[in-house]
Parts: sequence; C-alpha cells; structure tokens
Amino acid sequence: MKFVNLHTHSHTNSDSILAIVNQYPNEFLNDIPHYSIGIHPWYIVDERVTEDLNSIKNKLQLKECIALGECGLDKRIEKKIELQIAVFESQLALLHEVKKPVILHCVAAFDEIISCKKNSGIPSPFIIHGFSKNIALAKQLLNQDFYLSFGKYLLRNPEMESVFRHLPNDKIFLETDTISESLEEVYTFAAKCKNISVEKMKEIVWNNYQSVFNNKQ
Ligand SMILES: [Zn+2]
Repeated sequence: MKFVNLHTHSHTNSDSILAIVNQYPNEFLNDIPHYSIGIHPWYIVDERVTEDLNSIKNKLQLKECIALGECGLDKRIEKKIELQIAVFESQLALLHEVKKPVILHCVAAFDEIISCKKNSGIPSPFIIHGFSKNIALAKQLLNQDFYLSFGKYLLRNPEMESVFRHLPNDKIFLETDTISESLEEVYTFAAKCKNISVEKMKEIVWNNYQSVFNNKQ
C-alpha cells in the first residue's frame, strides 16, 4: 500500500508514493505516470484558453491523466470572477465525455464553486485541495459531496487540527502541493491529529483513492 499524494507540483515518483502531479496545458511534461491537468485561475490567458481547453480534452483521454485540475476560482486575484467561472465551467464540460475527478483550487469563492458543481450536472468527485477553512464550511462542502485534501495549512495552522480530526475518514486526502516538508511528514502529522497510526492513515487515504479514482494499482 502506497502513500497517496493528492496534489503536488514536483515531478518525483517513488515506489512508496503514488503522486498526482499537477500539469499545465502549456507546460506539459511527458513520462509522468499519474497527473492532473487543468487551467489554474491564476494562469488564465485569454488568447490561449481555446488551445488550452483542447489540450486538456486530449490529455483527459489518456490513462495517465487521472483527474482534471487544478482548476477553480480565486477571488483574491485581479482576474474577473466572471471570466474565471466561464473558464472553469468550460473545463467541467469536458467531463461529460470522460468521467474523471476534479482537483480544485478555491480561494474565497466557495458559494460559487458549489453552484458551478450543481450547474455542471457532472457526477465526478470534486476534491478541494489545500483546505484551510473552518468546520462549518467543511461540513457544508461534505454535504454537497465534496472531498477535502489537507497539507500545508494542516501543518501550519493549529486550528486546522480539530477541523481535520472531526471530518469523516472517507472524505479526506493528504497532499504536499508546494511545501518543503515530505509527504511522510504530512501523514505523520495527520495521523497524530486523528490519534491513529501512520499505517492506518495510509489505509484510509489509499481506500479513498481507490474509490474516487477507481484505479487499481
Ligand atoms: Zn497546487
């Protein structure tokens, strides 16, 4: 059983880790065994959106591409939210043909993300990466069938420990994203928060990976 890294930007895969490496349509690296691909709201370039969507559409056909994302909404950046929603919805529309999960970047736009999910009518699992908010919002998202992935803020913000502890085990993932700590350190900390062994923590995330990504390996 491997450690699963739900979201990372570093292109290393070891025998003990199954990493979902983030890729961008305009900066694509070959030979990554498991990746997600999407247009991040920070990197929407008007003149390139059509081209990027086409390339995402093609990659989504491949078995190495196991998720759409990271994509989503960010209200703390200059880019207009209407544009962000349009680009996000165009990406979600690609999942009518291929059923794959979505890895989400969401900053201060949770109501909008919830309504985009509803409006899309897509049955794919939606996973919010880098969750950093309170238990009330976490529960609201779980009620709307989202999964939540933890890493940086679980390690950095002591208030996240109790949020994490109170969430059902079948709704959580762990990740390193861009932090310098190792994935094992994230698992060790997460296991401590839940008062379980690292082995048990691995089993929980591994099972969630299997059920969400339906990817037996
Ligand atoms: Zn990221």
